[in-house]
Amino acid sequence: MTDHSPPGYRPETRLVHEGILRSEFGETSEALFLTQGHVYASAEECEARFKGESPGFLYARFSNPTVSMFEKRIAAFEGAEAARATASGMAAVTTALMGLLRAGDHVVAARALFGSCRYVIAELLPRFGVASTLVDGTNLAEWRAALRPETKVLFLESPANPTLEVIDIAAVAGIAREVGATLVVDNVFSTPVWQKPLALGADCVVYSATKHIDGQGRCLGGVILGSNEFIQNHVHTLLRQTGPAMSPFNAWVLLKSLETLSLRIERQTATAGRVADAIAGHPKVKRLIYPGRPDHPQADIIARQMSGGSTLIALEIAGEKAGAFRFLNALHLIRISNNLGDAKSLITHPATTTHQRFTPKERLEMGVSEGLVRLSIGLEHEDDLIDDLIEALDRV
Ligand SMILES: *Cc1c(COP(=O)(O)O)cnc(C)c1O
Repeated sequence: MTDHSPPGYRPETRLVHEGILRSEFGETSEALFLTQGHVYASAEECEARFKGESPGFLYARFSNPTVSMFEKRIAAFEGAEAARATASGMAAVTTALMGLLRAGDHVVAARALFGSCRYVIAELLPRFGVASTLVDGTNLAEWRAALRPETKVLFLESPANPTLEVIDIAAVAGIAREVGATLVVDNVFSTPVWQKPLALGADCVVYSATKHIDGQGRCLGGVILGSNEFIQNHVHTLLRQTGPAMSPFNAWVLLKSLETLSLRIERQTATAGRVADAIAGHPKVKRLIYPGRPDHPQADIIARQMSGGSTLIALEIAGEKAGAFRFLNALHLIRISNNLGDAKSLITHPATTTHQRFTPKERLEMGVSEGLVRLSIGLEHEDDLIDDLIEALDRV
């Protein structure tokens, strides 16, 4: 088996070629190694593999050739030394945090979070003796004020799900460095195409590969990226011993999806920008938040830290929940779903879905009002999407 990893090519080229392990058959398309384990030429070779003295694969909970191809390719595109794939985005978030934290430690996180991330930080970690403080991520003074001697991890999403609030990653990374804490960034909403948190000073990036990386709504996956040292010291053993491994089948699907990632994100973002401009002035749109428009509350930070906009638009519809529901129900082309980053445009009402388990007060703190909807723009023609949206808004 040959490892064909051309060095020095540009990111888009690496999305197509990086990490390929070609078998003796010289296949064009990466092979799906649907195998739990491997056989060894001798007992001595088997012993050497287990001791880590001989390279090669052992068992699919530890590693697998198809999963390894996915990890190498996404690491190359992100500009990370190492990556580990996980069964889902939440497995990536939970493993990265559990790997870094011990009882007695403290975490500070931005309040505007995906519901499950908030559950892990505010409810799960405290059960194991890890305290957490949630802050307004856009307010650097709040990050500083929340720090304690035992603060070990800072966590944020930017843009946040679903409010598209943007946090100054370099500034928060600076605060983390001052106190020797690790900054973990959930980069799902910007995708690796538009934002590189490691280059901005973060120590670890996590993705739900279920979203834009798959991009066609087929399978769950996640990935944790960082330096070799970070992955080796904090992630490697925990992943191996606890088992939130990515299935080789999912890795194969996601690996092939990486080939088209930048193309899809560029097109979906361009369409989203035009859709946002076309509906922003509609009388039933109370507020529209789109990273890329000059009226985004953190437009200056976006200009500094993102190289493109977003495939997502947040809309505040007139008439609270009833107005938002009438709008969703009046759409024909854009479908009601909780997924995002898909080739199909999808729309979500976060207050009754992804964020329904929080109290109304907690939801408001996170910016999730009753009229808020999250629109994920796909690969359809922009005019068909605009027609569908305007027609539905007219009926609110
Ligand atoms: C979806 C999502 C996750 C969780 O990913 P899964 O693959 O569904 O487990 C984590 N963070 C953000 C920002 C997400 O949008």
